[in-house]
Amino acid sequence: MFTTALAQRDSAQTGALPDDLFEAIGTLKKELNAVLLAHYYQDPDLQDIADYIGDSLELSRKAANTDADVIVFVGVHFMAETAKILNPDKLVLLPDLEAGCSLADSCPPDAFAEFKAAHPNHLVVSYINCSAEIKAMSDIICTSSNAVKIVNQIPKEQPIIFAPDRNLGRYVAEQTGRDLVLWQGSCIVHETFSERKIVQLKIEHPEAEVIAHPECEPSVLRHASYIGSTTALLKYSQASSNQTFIVATEPGIIHQMQKQAPGKRFIPAPPESNCACNECPFMRLNTLEKLYLAMKNRQPEITLPEEIQVAALRPIQRMLEMSV
Ligand code: SF4
Repeated sequence: MFTTALAQRDSAQTGALPDDLFEAIGTLKKELNAVLLAHYYQDPDLQDIADYIGDSLELSRKAANTDADVIVFVGVHFMAETAKILNPDKLVLLPDLEAGCSLADSCPPDAFAEFKAAHPNHLVVSYINCSAEIKAMSDIICTSSNAVKIVNQIPKEQPIIFAPDRNLGRYVAEQTGRDLVLWQGSCIVHETFSERKIVQLKIEHPEAEVIAHPECEPSVLRHASYIGSTTALLKYSQASSNQTFIVATEPGIIHQMQKQAPGKRFIPAPPESNCACNECPFMRLNTLEKLYLAMKNRQPEITLPEEIQVAALRPIQRMLEMSV
């Protein structure tokens, strides 16, 4: 009885779904003059229907330069927020508002404000994987593509807080030789990879090269012959003469790796337990059906208080200026 009532309610909210969701989304895209931006960690269907796929830096650039009226962000909440900060007058849609991020959640604004106050005179460099409130408290935003480049442009005598990812922060500190004050946040996906299983895979596939995202823990990074952002890993895997790769980041990227190099073999780095914990549970909340419904209903919409939007814009603009 209860199940029937729920089904009737859902049906009333959604209406019947079209048989061909790809075609229906294409039609809505024209009607709305919308642009579809999708992150590499999304399901293959969502990557294939997007106008642009990329990592956080590339998608921020696309969001900053679009002349579309509506931005549909097929990614997680902080990414759609970034698009809204860059385009306060545009409608920004996220197919599922629950698509959050464990890393962003590991840096609550109140606690971070106290941390910042305890380190006066420090410049705050924040990884883009944080909430709009944290961005508003930051001096410069960075992504995994440009973090080293940005920190290298800051005068040596200037002390720096790096937030929220401790693993990326540790990697940036090593690469730049800087003594960064790290906020102790992390991503549940990138901390799940098993060093033991990666070593086992290397024994089974001695020809394979390990490539890893800097959000991984040092125990995984030390086995990688190449470390970089998702885009950098994609480019490296195409350019390398190697034919087999063990990929230590969210396995959604393997769809593009395989498309661009069909002859190569990409093995996802496994988590310690026999689960799918190497897949981002937040990214996977987005589906073609939810994308269609978001465009049809023009919601869920991302909104932000004006003072947060204004304060968060400057550090994002600084990033875009410093990473050209
Ligand atoms: S993979 Fe990690 S950092 Fe990326 S969106 Fe998911 S939880 Fe956040």
